[in-house]
Amino acid sequence: MTTGKINVSVENIFPLIKKFLYSDHEIFLRELVSNATDATLKLKHLTSIGEAKVEYGNPIIEVKIDKEGKKLHIIDQGIGMTADEVEKYINQVAFSGAEEFLEKYKDSAKDSGIIGHFGLGFYSAFMVAEKVEIITKSFKDEPAAHWTCDGSPEFTLVAHDKTERGTEIILHIAEDSLDFLEEFKIRELLTKYNKFMPVPIKFGTKKEALPKPEDAPEDYKTEYIDVDNIINNPNPAWTKQPVDLTDEDYKNFYRELYPMQFEEPLFNIHLNVDYPFNLTGILYFPKMSGDLQLQKDKIQLYQNQVFVTDNVEGIVPEFLGMLKGVIDSPDIPLNVSRSYLQADGNVKKISNYITRKVADKLKSLFNENREDFEQKWNDIKIVLEYGMLSEPKFYEKAGDFVLYPTVDDKYFTLAELKEAITANQTDKNGKLVVLYASNKDAQHSYIEIAKEKGYEVLLLDSPIVSHLIQKLEADNENLTFTRVDSDHIDKLIQKEETQISKLSEEEQGNLKTVLEEIVPKTTYSVQLEPMDSNASPFIITQPEFMRRMKEMSQTGGGG
Ligand code: ADP
Ligand code: MG
Repeated sequence: MTTGKINVSVENIFPLIKKFLYSDHEIFLRELVSNATDATLKLKHLTSIGEAKVEYGNPIIEVKIDKEGKKLHIIDQGIGMTADEVEKYINQVAFSGAEEFLEKYKDSAKDSGIIGHFGLGFYSAFMVAEKVEIITKSFKDEPAAHWTCDGSPEFTLVAHDKTERGTEIILHIAEDSLDFLEEFKIRELLTKYNKFMPVPIKFGTKKEALPKPEDAPEDYKTEYIDVDNIINNPNPAWTKQPVDLTDEDYKNFYRELYPMQFEEPLFNIHLNVDYPFNLTGILYFPKMSGDLQLQKDKIQLYQNQVFVTDNVEGIVPEFLGMLKGVIDSPDIPLNVSRSYLQADGNVKKISNYITRKVADKLKSLFNENREDFEQKWNDIKIVLEYGMLSEPKFYEKAGDFVLYPTVDDKYFTLAELKEAITANQTDKNGKLVVLYASNKDAQHSYIEIAKEKGYEVLLLDSPIVSHLIQKLEADNENLTFTRVDSDHIDKLIQKEETQISKLSEEEQGNLKTVLEEIVPKTTYSVQLEPMDSNASPFIITQPEFMRRMKEMSQTGGGG
């Protein structure tokens, strides 16, 4: 038997990184801007603890296109690297300087927001570039260094005369990637991945109007100057404390997140936890509408203010899929290409936390302003009813705020509903019978009859209502639901005054026979009922059981 060590040489690994590590070529920009951000945040940290004795100032990151030279520049004013550090951090593939930094400054830097992790991000540059240059000057008093590499494992490293602190990465864009020299393309990528990163990012300039002077003449023409075009908001709302934010701030952030969305959200939920995992974010309940744009806007997942994905399946419980907003958590494990790993234990914890937070918020909205909550009910009920069916943890809490509206716009909680119908709506077994309508117009006459008898009639019109009813019945032994047009209604106990029919027995029999010939017997039953209102001399009902069977089969099985 022989044992040995597999020899991994850079020659083998380099093309692998280029080809397979990242499925998406465009993420090179996210990685390089992340490195520039890390370099800036490291400097911030070192100046704050007195280890770097330089002025931190107001550093920015600049992304610049040189279309003629077919080059893309990413320039920062961060910590920089000495020649030795280039050797150490760049020439060693899969050695993460970010992780080393966090390890070294463990306690003081844990909230510094440093992004890097795997020590592979830099090499993503070679997915789009045939040659990469690094010109870098450390904050330490050492000469600048110039590193060049054309994608083969050979590189050159020489001195450079750069005097300002920081790093410039120059990508010589490959022929098959010339897209990345287009202004709109780069703007799109910066907006997608870097819109809320913590260091200002400049991309080109824009014109800004100078304020009109006090003594401006009548024919004064507005003057414009060129200013830096900063494409990101380094301090997005979710990184702030809820006490520092007004309603207006939350709405503004919603617009910032979804510029194409003009409908205002109904309310927001600010997430903020640092134990047992770190997570911040803001979720919004949107107004339900058929708006296609709104359906496209999804919850976005960030990590230290870097966009990761808008596929949050698993992190956000499925029933909250219609919500909008952001979640930012450095504790969601990512793989190298920064898509998250769903199987991790933290992910389930986070999902449970979100469920609980949403339930708590709903409860407090309900308690603080019930009237307002009732008004919003129609827009949020689908989400909540679906939540009751799909998340046991949510179902447990739903009794505190889930409402059951009547056809007369009264809103009951389940407890209130039971109270309201106790007196006169029981069947022969003593069960409380909840009457409901699913369509106010179509079932109008049945509703009227029930109301005349003094019954409360709920209006339950969500598509999943039959599943919800089944669940409520299963969990509340003394409760049974009956649709207002079913044959159960006449079996209710309260039936004091007997009406005398205007038809003779024989006439009634004849009419019944005629009607039964018209309607299918298998699904409906005909009853002639003497009633005080002349509006409905007879009713045709469908056995509750038959109707439910049909409905359940249409909406696809049990909840
Ligand atoms: P990671 O960010 O995961 O550590 P990268 O491959 O992205 O790995 O970068 C490797 C290392 O190179 C970084 O950790 C950092 O030490 C160094 N580095 C990369 N870009 C810069 C930069 N713009 N300024 C200073 N150091 C940098
Ligand atoms: Mg990195």
